[in-house]
Amino acid sequence: MGIQQLSNRNKFALLIGLMAVIAVGVAGITLAVLYKTAYREQHKRLQEIAQTKARYIEAIAQYNLRLNPHDPGIAYSATLEQVKQAHEGFIGLGDTGEITLAKVDHQRIIYVLNGRMANLSNADTGSLDSPQATPMQRALQGRSGIMAGKDYRGVKVLAAYEPVGVFGWGLVAKIDYSELEAPFIRAGIHSAVFGLLVILVGTWMFRRISSPLIYSVEKTESQLNTILNTVVDSIITTDAAGKILSVNTSAEKMFGYAASEIIGANVNKLMPAQYRRAHKQIMNKQESTAENRIIGVSREVYGRRKDGSEFPVEISLGKANIAEQVIFTGIIRDITERRRNEEELKRYREDLEHQVAQRTQALARANRKLEQLAREDALTGIANRRVFDEVLTQEIRRAKRNKKPLSLIICDIDYFKNYNDTYGHLAGDRCLQKVAKTIESGFQRAGELVARYGGEEFAIILPLLDKEAAAERAENIRLAIWDLNIIHESSKIDQRVSVSLGVATTHSDAVLNLAELIHAADNALYAAKHNGRNCVASDPPTDHNPVITGTA
Ligand code: GH3
Ligand code: MG
Ligand code: MG
Repeated sequence: MGIQQLSNRNKFALLIGLMAVIAVGVAGITLAVLYKTAYREQHKRLQEIAQTKARYIEAIAQYNLRLNPHDPGIAYSATLEQVKQAHEGFIGLGDTGEITLAKVDHQRIIYVLNGRMANLSNADTGSLDSPQATPMQRALQGRSGIMAGKDYRGVKVLAAYEPVGVFGWGLVAKIDYSELEAPFIRAGIHSAVFGLLVILVGTWMFRRISSPLIYSVEKTESQLNTILNTVVDSIITTDAAGKILSVNTSAEKMFGYAASEIIGANVNKLMPAQYRRAHKQIMNKQESTAENRIIGVSREVYGRRKDGSEFPVEISLGKANIAEQVIFTGIIRDITERRRNEEELKRYREDLEHQVAQRTQALARANRKLEQLAREDALTGIANRRVFDEVLTQEIRRAKRNKKPLSLIICDIDYFKNYNDTYGHLAGDRCLQKVAKTIESGFQRAGELVARYGGEEFAIILPLLDKEAAAERAENIRLAIWDLNIIHESSKIDQRVSVSLGVATTHSDAVLNLAELIHAADNALYAAKHNGRNCVASDPPTDHNPVITGTA
């Protein structure tokens, strides 16, 4: 676990621990250096004392020997006396410092001076090879030097030893180790206590200052995390290279990865293969051109789950600089449901459009039919009176404009009332149908119109036809009906159905209006009836006669 993973509290404890270790270390090193220096000083001092004293005593002894050349015993006693006197005036070093002088007697160490720490006059403190009084043993062996060892009391001391010539004495200048160490132990305790106090006070103050800050940072962080982990959308942050820095709970769920599996990986792990290259190019371009074509814009792409399945997503990217690091934030929404709804809506709309198109077609058909019905005579299927009026109005206008002739024929079945009376109304209807069909079959040219004008009357509009040509066409009708040979026993004309026809024609010098033209045709028809029926009459009359043809 790295330091990053530690909680703030533990980081804090680690910091205090580290400070304590450093404080103890620094104090320890300082004390050690000081101790070493003090030790060396003491060393030098003890050696100097030991050597100086030894040389003085040797000088006194030599003097006494010169005074008593024949009695060394006196010289010995005098020397001892003088050294004792001098020694009494010297208290010693510090609290435990002491100078001892001894001789060897039968392999035993016998002290010749009184000691500061114990009454040593003529004291026997052991043999030359005892574990105690080791420095004195060395001095008595004629060696000079300094050592850490045990004195006559068995206490650990730092001792300088020096042989004193002439009488074979040994001299030791020593001080207890405990005295040497005491100030440093004291200083160590003081500095430890002080250091601890400083750390405690420092910690307390640091906590007082930093806790509100830490608390506020922790609070903000926890609020932020709560927000991040409760939003429905996935939120993923990456660095500029696409390395994933963080994912929220929704992202874990959406892509099927645990945060630990995906943090540190490249974000393209979450895309289908075909999007990876494009994504890289976009990011590179984004970086090199500093152009924010993808930032703040949402795009619809595809995501890839851990199990390899792909799903549509809407992604919007944000870019931020945090602590001089570029961070991209992707907010990703799963739009599977939306896509499904859109598809459904599209299908529904298409279905609706199809239905509307079908209905429209049906309506158009019905309309055409209706229009046809509105323009058609129900019984005979030919144009009705309405169409006749329209067409005749148009044709009169055109004829006037073009100064061309226009002819109108009105055709009426003779004695039709009698026909109905004889054969019944239904038979009359069938007869009307036959007559209508026959007339219509004779007028198929462009511009010509056959319409049912009244009960058993038909009208034919003939553009561009002059009165002669029109009379001829009327005659053709008459003959065609005659040739149908429909039995009409109650007709006064040869027991078959016949028609009378009136023809009217406009002429350029006196163009007629609609009413006048119809009136003229009616007149002609009347003339034809009057003339015995089954004939054609023209108004204005033709060269021959108002009645062109016909047999009574
Ligand atoms: P005319 O030779 O003078 O024309 O004698 P007509 O009997 O034909 O003349 P009239 O005008 O007196 O009689 C017309 C008859 O046509 C009256 C009516 O019964 C008949 N008619 C009119 N419309 C229809 C129809 O739609 N169906 C049938 N069956 N008869 C009709
Ligand atoms: Mg009639
Ligand atoms: Mg009639």
